[in-house]
Amino acid sequence: MKKGFNRRFFLKASALTAAFVAIDKTKAVAMLPVKAAVPIKPIVISTWDFGVAANKAAWKVLSKGGRALDAVEIGVQVPEADANNHSVGYGGFPDRDGKVTLDACIMDDFGNCGSVAALEYIKHPIAVARMVMEKTPHVLLVGDGALQFALENGFKKENLLTKESERAWKEWLKTAKYAPVINIENMPGNQYNHDTIGMLAIDAKGNISGACTTSGMAFKLHGRVGDSPIIGAGLYIDNEIGGATSTGVGEEVIRNVGSFLVVELMRQGYSPEDACKEAVMRIIKKKPAVAKEIQVGFLALNKKGEYGAYAIQKGFSYAVCNESKSDLLVPGKSYYH
Ligand code: ASP
Repeated sequence: MKKGFNRRFFLKASALTAAFVAIDKTKAVAMLPVKAAVPIKPIVISTWDFGVAANKAAWKVLSKGGRALDAVEIGVQVPEADANNHSVGYGGFPDRDGKVTLDACIMDDFGNCGSVAALEYIKHPIAVARMVMEKTPHVLLVGDGALQFALENGFKKENLLTKESERAWKEWLKTAKYAPVINIENMPGNQYNHDTIGMLAIDAKGNISGACTTSGMAFKLHGRVGDSPIIGAGLYIDNEIGGATSTGVGEEVIRNVGSFLVVELMRQGYSPEDACKEAVMRIIKKKPAVAKEIQVGFLALNKKGEYGAYAIQKGFSYAVCNESKSDLLVPGKSYYH
């Protein structure tokens, strides 16, 4: 597979070289530099430590020459199905009213995207988001409408509230303080882990796709939607440049159109890490007092396969998987150490 691809790439590069030579001969212009043929290497990156297992599933698709879009959809379904993960999919902590409501989105290399928000009873919201993208003229379906669409398309209605999550919710109800606990992973005793999985992948053809899925903030107001299903906020892909995704307090990411910003900064020449840092700095600059108390992290991948991340608070990590670095967990840099 890899050999076949390299040959194709080489042929393409040779054809380009020939074209430049032909232009040079007939029009007598200076020969344009021909970039060295660098073979494109598949790679998948995703947020947090649970990204390791998710990447592994995505890598199975990528290593067989599969499409990045399929890889990210299959990859993020791993934490979606994990009952012990209380921030994504099945087993996610419910909202203030005890309902598990899920947000997810997906975006491909053609700029197509689909998303669902405040979706209940469906274990794999990412698969519904993909169906919104592929089967409807719309981008985003919410709440009951999203559920209706899922059921009409063969998804099974399931109870997503596990015993453990119900116990945590009942514990919270004792004080029922409506102030979504902020997402600082390094906060001692922080049981309210509400981290999202955002995943970005490049396939052997060099195309990039991304997916993002979460149960959002634990004990949020019913109907609250975070950044994760909002294209441009929780996820953005531009096949010319690269992709970005986010985790943390979604409201701040939406206010700053975070993932779109990161991709646009990469377009201007920023490295993935510098682009993520600049997006974090915008949040800090606008609301320094708020930023001290919250976590937001960005993760980015450019078309060369370079990646980077930056967060407000320490404790952010991401997983990387490619041919040589299988299942590596990398600590992201942060503003407050
Ligand atoms: N971004 C998610 C939200 O605001 C939560 C998280 O990633 O921690 O819903």
